[in-house]
Amino acid sequence: MKYSHPVIDGHYHILEGWFNHEGQDFAKSAKAYRDSRGFDALNVCAVPYLEEYHTDVSNNILAALCKIRLPGTYAHGGLIYSDDHTPAYSPEEQYRDLMEIGFDGIKMLETKPSEIRRLGRAMDEPLFEGWFDAIEKGGTHMVWHVADPGHFWIRECVSQEFVDRGWFYGDGTYPSKEEIYRQVLNVLERHPLLKVTFAHFFFLGDEPQRLEEIFGKYPNVNVDITPGWEMYAAFGRDPAFWREFFVKYADRIGFGTDSGDESAGDPGIPDIVYRFLTTEEEQEIWGIRFGGIALDDGTLEKILRGNLLRRVGKTPKPVNRDALRRYIAKVRHLIRDDGLRGKIDGAEL
Ligand SMILES: [Zn+2]
Repeated sequence: MKYSHPVIDGHYHILEGWFNHEGQDFAKSAKAYRDSRGFDALNVCAVPYLEEYHTDVSNNILAALCKIRLPGTYAHGGLIYSDDHTPAYSPEEQYRDLMEIGFDGIKMLETKPSEIRRLGRAMDEPLFEGWFDAIEKGGTHMVWHVADPGHFWIRECVSQEFVDRGWFYGDGTYPSKEEIYRQVLNVLERHPLLKVTFAHFFFLGDEPQRLEEIFGKYPNVNVDITPGWEMYAAFGRDPAFWREFFVKYADRIGFGTDSGDESAGDPGIPDIVYRFLTTEEEQEIWGIRFGGIALDDGTLEKILRGNLLRRVGKTPKPVNRDALRRYIAKVRHLIRDDGLRGKIDGAEL
């Protein structure tokens, strides 16, 4: 399905390493996905610290290589950690390295409940103070995943399959959703100009007033509408309310899908998000039914593309190949997979 409006997928991942499950390399797979919908561009959100996929610093490196090999691609890089879950080196220095390489922004996932538990740290600790300070002062865009859907904390609402995947957070070993918001709002309190896009609607689909308060207080806070389908369930309960909300906050909402090499063959998700915004069609996924909100063209232009461009620039930053080479030399020992390390060592730069 080709889209009739110009769209940038602001939330794309490379999660399978150099080759995806079909043996296609990460840049070809990203291109195939981009071309399948006619996206103007993708924004690769690197997640070098994600337990579920056993990612490491190679995820930053692949994102940077993707910018080189698929011109027009944006990338957000993340902090890297040693095996003992402390930052591999000073967060401020990591920020400078990522910016020097030519990343267009910063991605954070440390505040997903499973990662907080693994890290054993809070984001409002002094350790991260210089990191957020540098990001704020640099006017650097962030895509930040905070918390998870609220029902993941309620046992009756989580299927056994999800419990087995580690997506039940109510057993006392995870911080509560409110505790996570408290930490992140503390960071915002100290750095009120952070130019952050909270992924997945900040998981506040059920609390639009709370989101409005945050929008009111922090002029640079945006959200994306990358599923979580629970937020679409909320949208579907009152499409008229949400149409008005999306128009009112047209400058504060961005398009994203969480697609990646692993889901390139699963064409449904971006199309469902796109149809939700552009039509009134009833759609259903995972038993959740919702109608679309058929936004006007001006609103769509902002949400589908304009807001991200305004925040990261009209063209992606070029990659500084020398800086990338230095980064690879500095961190390659943290790449766990020998084959992947070999591919990166041999990559043409
Ligand atoms: Zn994501």
